[in-house]
Amino acid sequence: MDWARQINIKNPAEIAIMREAGRINATILATVREQLKPGVSTAELDAAAEDVLKKHGAVSPFKGYGYPPFPNSITVSINEELVHGIPSANRKLKEGDIVSVDCGTFFEGYVADSAFSAGVGEISPKARNLLEVTEQSLYIGIAKMRSGNRTGDISEAIQKFVESHGFQVTREYTGHGVGRQMHEGPQVPNYGTAGTGILLRPGMVIALEPMVLIGTHKTKVSKDKWTVVSADGSLTAHFEHSVAVTEGDPLILTVL
Ligand code: MG
Ligand code: MG
Repeated sequence: MDWARQINIKNPAEIAIMREAGRINATILATVREQLKPGVSTAELDAAAEDVLKKHGAVSPFKGYGYPPFPNSITVSINEELVHGIPSANRKLKEGDIVSVDCGTFFEGYVADSAFSAGVGEISPKARNLLEVTEQSLYIGIAKMRSGNRTGDISEAIQKFVESHGFQVTREYTGHGVGRQMHEGPQVPNYGTAGTGILLRPGMVIALEPMVLIGTHKTKVSKDKWTVVSADGSLTAHFEHSVAVTEGDPLILTVL
């Protein structure tokens, strides 16, 4: 992939703008999270996200992205849907669903990208475990985002943690650099080998995004050409933050 070759180091002023974009993105996700209730349509979630974007003078980098152009501002993926679900007025949340919401914010020339998964009402113990392991794996990966480490250190840490809980990481979709473009280098898979890959340097910003499946790691793309589902129909989850590498601790940009 060509975008994966282009690594853009950000200066402190750029990181500061990306932090603002990240704050808006976190506000959107918090707003959507409050609406995860049975009977709410995924189109309503998208409309709520749009409202927050507009209020902040920001736009979605998802809308119009790719081919066929993605039609909405957020992706909403339910249960076996791993990522890239298209919001729809006909798709309503049900008690027991697990919902993954991915959102981007394009603000003053820079992109923030983050995602979370959460249950609707009561969910099964297995689903709860999947959410916990996936979210923890994101923070385990972030802890490896230190200057002097390599992308493979992040990848291996995420994979080992997820597999130690009996779950699988996706192979086809990866974390990525983020900046003026939604997708820049380096590419950061959720599987790999420590000590390999790109050397991390201060000013790199990476959207780290473990995508975890209960059954097979294999996926397929639905007829709508966007929605990615687990090949065996098993449950999936997805958490993502945009994070800057610094001289010291990693700086999570996509928080309030
Ligand atoms: Mg994302
Ligand atoms: Mg991303």
